Amino acid sequence: MRVALERVSMRFGKVTAVDALSVEFASGEFVVILGPSGCGKSTTLFLLAGLYVPTEGEIRFDGRVVNALPPERRNVGLVFQNYALYPHMSVFENIAFPLHMQRRPREERRERVLAVARMLYIDHLLERKPSQLSGGQQQRVAIARALVKRPDLLLLDEPLSNLDARLRLEMREEIRRVQREVGITTVLVTHDQEEALSLADRILVMRDGKAVQFAPPEELYEFPLDRFVAHFVGNPPMNFFPAEYAGSGRFSLSGGLEVQVSPEEFAELRPGAAYELGVRPEAASLRPSRSEGTPPFPLLEAGEGAEGSPAANEFPGLVVHREVVGRDVLYKVRTSAGDLRLVAPSSSPYRAGDRVIVGIDASRVHVFDADGKNLRL
Ligand code: ATP
Repeated sequence: MRVALERVSMRFGKVTAVDALSVEFASGEFVVILGPSGCGKSTTLFLLAGLYVPTEGEIRFDGRVVNALPPERRNVGLVFQNYALYPHMSVFENIAFPLHMQRRPREERRERVLAVARMLYIDHLLERKPSQLSGGQQQRVAIARALVKRPDLLLLDEPLSNLDARLRLEMREEIRRVQREVGITTVLVTHDQEEALSLADRILVMRDGKAVQFAPPEELYEFPLDRFVAHFVGNPPMNFFPAEYAGSGRFSLSGGLEVQVSPEEFAELRPGAAYELGVRPEAASLRPSRSEGTPPFPLLEAGEGAEGSPAANEFPGLVVHREVVGRDVLYKVRTSAGDLRLVAPSSSPYRAGDRVIVGIDASRVHVFDADGKNLRL
């Protein structure tokens, strides 16, 4: 089912939780709504569920306006963070409950509960009570209960936040697999950018009740429209450096460092104006410094560059932290323009206290103007 919101607003007294939001979700699409606490994610989900009636605007399911349609007439499946299972009912009864409400015949109820339980690998647990299940199993039951009535739209509100890290990864895969199998339009709300990147066909980033960007994960990561998205998406986060534009693609950073970009890759750079440069952790690399000596600074030393100052896109620095994460190494390097986090292969030999040169890949540098707008074209 296609879902459209057209200039939808939701106000609670003076608080505007959702502010003139216009987006469309394709049929069968997995959409993740991502944003910080209070940005209006849950309110948007509740509007889709029919728990709230929008103050303004239109919500359409397959072209039909559903603003005033109550939840039970929308055919949506809703899964909450706390699962909300009925404790006195067995797993079977919990899953069957929506069919019970629809007064489906006993045999049909049985068949449909079994089918969905098999799909979620909980068919051996049907006689148990929720209290006899692990968190992950309870989550599967909640999803089964949402799916058993064959909804047109599946809505998930932070469904994984109560699970430990390993289970969370496992359930992510499960949710994605089941969603593909059923082919149901799905909207999941989270504040976890990693979860969003791994699950979504498209991510809707919200801030202050508004849509900031709605794009596939790769695009959101590579082409964040503004500083907010750039900062919010990616772990470790993008590095930011204040810089003044000197013209001809040259930026001056603090400590006498320079970044040289191709100006034609950016919109409207104004000489003398202040910007912020954004460097993803994998857009920087390390090589050994030629200079000897021990820390601390000055980091800027004669002999680093051609004329005794560093070459453009090269930041002399000091490794202050090294951390192995899986197959990567995360470094924090202190430079005179500020600290910079970068990712290197695990074979990378540098240790805390080593002097290094950070090479910046200028073709991957982002430039943000005073309003936070990304000027990369
Ligand atoms: P979180 O991640 O913390 O759940 P969220 O992004 O889901 O946040 P919402 O719960 O949608 O945000 O809330 C958006 C704004 O609307 C917040 O400022 C919140 O305080 C306010 N709000 C939400 N529901 C109500 C309500 N029923 N009455 C009054 N204000 C509300």
